[in-house]
Amino acid sequence: MKLDVDVLRYLSKDDFRVLTAVEMGMRNHEIVPTELIDRIASLKHGGTYKVLKNLLKHKLLHHDSSKYDGFRLTYLGYDFLAIKTMVNRGVFAAVGRQIGVGKESDIFEVATEDGTVLAMKLHRLGRISFRAVKSKRDYLRHRSSYNWLYLSRLAALKEFAFMKALEEHGFPVPKAVDCNRHCVVMSLVQGYPLVQVKQLQNPETVFETIIGLVVHLAEHGLIHCDFNEFNIMIDDDEKVTMIDFPQMVSVSHRNAQMYFERDVECIFKFFSKRYNLSFKEHTDENDGSDVDSDENGRPTFSSISKSAGFLDKELAASGFSRKDQDDIEKFIEGGNEKDRNSDTEGTEDEEHESESSETINRTLDSLHLLEKEENALNFVEEDKVDENQQSCETGQNNGSESEEASDKEEESQTLNTGDVELVKRLNKQRRRAILSAQGGRRSLASRNSYKDKGGKSSQNSKLKKHLSSW
Ligand code: ADP
Ligand code: MG
Repeated sequence: MKLDVDVLRYLSKDDFRVLTAVEMGMRNHEIVPTELIDRIASLKHGGTYKVLKNLLKHKLLHHDSSKYDGFRLTYLGYDFLAIKTMVNRGVFAAVGRQIGVGKESDIFEVATEDGTVLAMKLHRLGRISFRAVKSKRDYLRHRSSYNWLYLSRLAALKEFAFMKALEEHGFPVPKAVDCNRHCVVMSLVQGYPLVQVKQLQNPETVFETIIGLVVHLAEHGLIHCDFNEFNIMIDDDEKVTMIDFPQMVSVSHRNAQMYFERDVECIFKFFSKRYNLSFKEHTDENDGSDVDSDENGRPTFSSISKSAGFLDKELAASGFSRKDQDDIEKFIEGGNEKDRNSDTEGTEDEEHESESSETINRTLDSLHLLEKEENALNFVEEDKVDENQQSCETGQNNGSESEEASDKEEESQTLNTGDVELVKRLNKQRRRAILSAQGGRRSLASRNSYKDKGGKSSQNSKLKKHLSSW
């Protein structure tokens, strides 16, 4: 997928406002009605339609008039929202070339203001797994297009949380820098995926390091679940870095042993085939650890002393909840089932099909049909309208206020993370809206616009400077 970031340079504040309005509308509409977009965006001088046309031209939105006139975000539209947030936060200043296309992600180089190159992963969960069943299932036709927003965001949050926690425990992983929506920014690994490496100086050492990692992960209560030559990077000194964590599970998962053995088997097979390693003779030594090997030299899952709880304690601290984990696991398992059967797609029998579609449906139910959330969101939109009206009355956002605006924007897209937080934030927004409607005191927006008079262009020119290097 091409990410034409040049377009970013030409997008105005109104463009982003309307794009954000569509994103908000997608919380409870698959296709967001045009009037609702107009209402949420509340552009100062009107003209939402013109802006929509511009966004459509750049393929940031998709127009659908089959049932009523409306729009939804495209991947590109969602990418731009995340990228803009990252740029505003100063995480990076330029997007470079694409360095990886995963099964369900696109990876780009990005550069910070001081020229450091980082990696940006844009998650595309649902790109593969949903496609197969989407066209056949009415239910999915209704639900899938705003589901990928949620699933991709969840995958990014999970990846970020795991990367951070693993790094803290000394695992060789990229350094997690930041996360927004479906986007994770991390350090750039200097090296290549093992799949591209034809020869190694010390294949045995590398092999042992890698198997050691699988065992070490299990000791920490984790299984990678996609541990293979595509997700192991290796540099010129044959130093190993593991990547790609959205599918990791706990050792207490009901299929833990199977996942563990599958990871181990992938590595054994690859090293045997690619580097002609034979294992029986040296795996018995098992580098001094207590882990037993089976008759084929594979470490046995049952002999590993595992400390579960890593997931719960450490990941909760990164904002990734048990529920998030359950949600994404359900989906990924459903997806994996589908992927594994992809050869037989189209010829599989109805029974299997309805089973996997049921898994997905159940997942969707748990993801999006939470009554509470849907109801809560109705008044987010109202409040957002109020807030937008405030800032329209009092002038454009700038300086510190833009930070606040982007905070709000972030707030608005973290609504799924927990009910308590959600309610707190909603109440805060509500209070603000009520206060300003009553005219009891000058709104925060108006105070800021006063304070920032004359400094209006500072943020804009900073952004322009950022973007001009693209
Ligand atoms: P997916 O989940 O879609 O498989 P990955 O995280 O495995 O995505 O990334 C896909 C490819 O992108 C990798 O095989 C690797 O070539 C490249 N890549 C991913 N992360 C990094 C990184 N931090 N540094 C350098 N290259 C990376
Ligand atoms: Mg991968």
